[in-house]
Amino acid sequence: MSADAEVAAALAAVRAASELCAGAQGRLADGDTLTKGDESPVTVADFAAQAVVCATLTDALGAIDLVGEEDSDDLRADARRSLLDSVVDLVRRQRGDDVSAANVLDWIRAGSADGSTDRYWTLDPIDGTKGFLRGDQYAIALALIDDGEVRLGVLGCPNLPNPDGSTGAVFLATEGRCDAWFGSSTDPLPRRVAAPATITEARLCESVESAHSNQSDSARIAELLGITAEPYRIDSQCKYAAVARGDASIYLRLPTRADYREKIWDHAAGKYVVEQAGGRVTDITGAPLDFRHGTRLENNRGVVATDGRFHDEVVAAISAAGI
Ligand code: AMP
Ligand code: MG
Repeated sequence: MSADAEVAAALAAVRAASELCAGAQGRLADGDTLTKGDESPVTVADFAAQAVVCATLTDALGAIDLVGEEDSDDLRADARRSLLDSVVDLVRRQRGDDVSAANVLDWIRAGSADGSTDRYWTLDPIDGTKGFLRGDQYAIALALIDDGEVRLGVLGCPNLPNPDGSTGAVFLATEGRCDAWFGSSTDPLPRRVAAPATITEARLCESVESAHSNQSDSARIAELLGITAEPYRIDSQCKYAAVARGDASIYLRLPTRADYREKIWDHAAGKYVVEQAGGRVTDITGAPLDFRHGTRLENNRGVVATDGRFHDEVVAAISAAGI
């Protein structure tokens, strides 16, 4: 399969899922959300977006290995029938009325690889589901990993406000470049990170959810670095997008628990978007993110993404703070 075909399929898949999610945000019924075993929320739009991405990729590329966040088993029980019906409705809006419940379950299950092969895709169909439910930011994040390295990353950010006044962006990272489409524009613009003159002027972004990133530790780091601006809190891999287009120059994800290992679909696409826009991404010790260990970043703790210029200084501050 040619690299161009993979890029075209990945873009088409993320665009279709972004459209689906934008149409569903704010319009879900009471029963359209459930709480998973790890207490995180999942909505019918998360399942539908995974189905649409897998369907688009397999139509274009044939069988693929894809590590997706959602599990079709969550929809199979009789008690989940009405949830499955809502998912099928959403998928039909994208793919036509002849889509069946069996098709939808098969497409979602196409995302059940475990990351043990050399080459695989990874997908978060709605990263930042809490932001999605709040009416805030979320992202559709798709990446291709080959031999432990991310080779392609696409981020759909359907609710992201753009500098030109439009809403919604798609970021595409391929080797050596990061392009973005804003609003309904058909022409992509190359994106580069932006570094302020001194680190004290840097804008730092972090998760809205204090359970996902330690906000008091990041306040200590900001103080150590002399950063006085309030942190920019935004859900999902939109944080990576913010660094890639210069809205922020540091993204900190500081562990809230010693035993938490980040999930690959929460970082693969965003990391590549920042790197191909000229930035740097490591864990909090400065080690590269290591995608060779299945569904989690088993050998990493937390994440630091920056414009590149101040990366070493940020990692040194985290170490000095004993985090
Ligand atoms: P964010 O929107 O940046 O808050 O990230 C959302 C992601 O946080 C979800 O997709 C979860 O996989 C992930 N998550 C859940 N619990 C934790 C945790 N304790 N530490 C870091 N990330 C987490
Ligand atoms: Mg996620």
